[in-house]
Amino acid sequence: MEKFIFFNGRFVKEKNVKISVLNSSLHYGLSVFEGIKAFKTSKGTIIFRLKEHLKRLRSSAKIMGYSIPYSNKQLTKFVKLLLKKNNLDSAYIRPIVFFQGESIGLKKSKTNIALIAFNLKNFFKNTELKLMISSLTRYSKNKLFEFKVSGNYALSFLAKNKAIQKGFDDAIILNEKKQLTECSTENIFIVKNNTVFTPKTNAILSGITRDSIKKICKNLKIPFKEKNIPLKELFNVSEVFVSGTAAGILPVKQVNTKKYSMKKNNITKKIIQEYNTIIQAKNPKYSKWLEFV
Ligand code: PMP
Repeated sequence: MEKFIFFNGRFVKEKNVKISVLNSSLHYGLSVFEGIKAFKTSKGTIIFRLKEHLKRLRSSAKIMGYSIPYSNKQLTKFVKLLLKKNNLDSAYIRPIVFFQGESIGLKKSKTNIALIAFNLKNFFKNTELKLMISSLTRYSKNKLFEFKVSGNYALSFLAKNKAIQKGFDDAIILNEKKQLTECSTENIFIVKNNTVFTPKTNAILSGITRDSIKKICKNLKIPFKEKNIPLKELFNVSEVFVSGTAAGILPVKQVNTKKYSMKKNNITKKIIQEYNTIIQAKNPKYSKWLEFV
């Protein structure tokens, strides 16, 4: 079946989308984007926390000087239509905003917006992850890392591909103080003395799944704290897990050569269980997170 893309106000067949190479976003990594998920449930398809994703898209767009010519209500309608046009009852949805067509200078030009949707089964082939500590650094003063700007992903790309080359699933990137920041496209969590800890959001992406975990923990009465986590603490904890829209919530079974028991990770399991009931639309407590298509 032909895939439809929403491009600057129209639904266009993928092969008919024409983008210029005079595209400063392509040349300099200036585009901003989102990753959103739609899940098939027994009650119909739901889009998970669409409002929060659109809010983050707008904040990324604002920092780069894009002006998105549609309201959230319009974007919501377009996303739903996109799923219908592509016959998707579950999907990964990728809005992307970029400059193109006028010059390749480092000057603002016209805002373009595309919405793409496709099937995404397993983002990681493994359901328990092996992570490697990357030798690259996410500087803790770099505010740009708090936004979904494509240029940030050069670092994620290098870290992840090095990890894969060495037989791992992904990399953990540290800041210059040797504290944990995040993985290539996931936030990271440790469990110590039955408390969940995750790095503060300095120079990391404030994940929407991360925020969901914070609220799940509150409801399950699991203590949850944000703090700076030195690398060495990672080797002294019972559970490690990661979260992201594409990946979901996944336990970590190994970091470098350190192994974690997949039998004793009870807190991770509880959180994953609760998350699964939410995305299956079986947990009315969280119904405001679900946008029915
Ligand atoms: N960190 C980075 C760098 C990411 O790209 C992502 C994916 N958006 C995340 C964390 C997780 O964020 P979310 O839960 O909103 O997908």
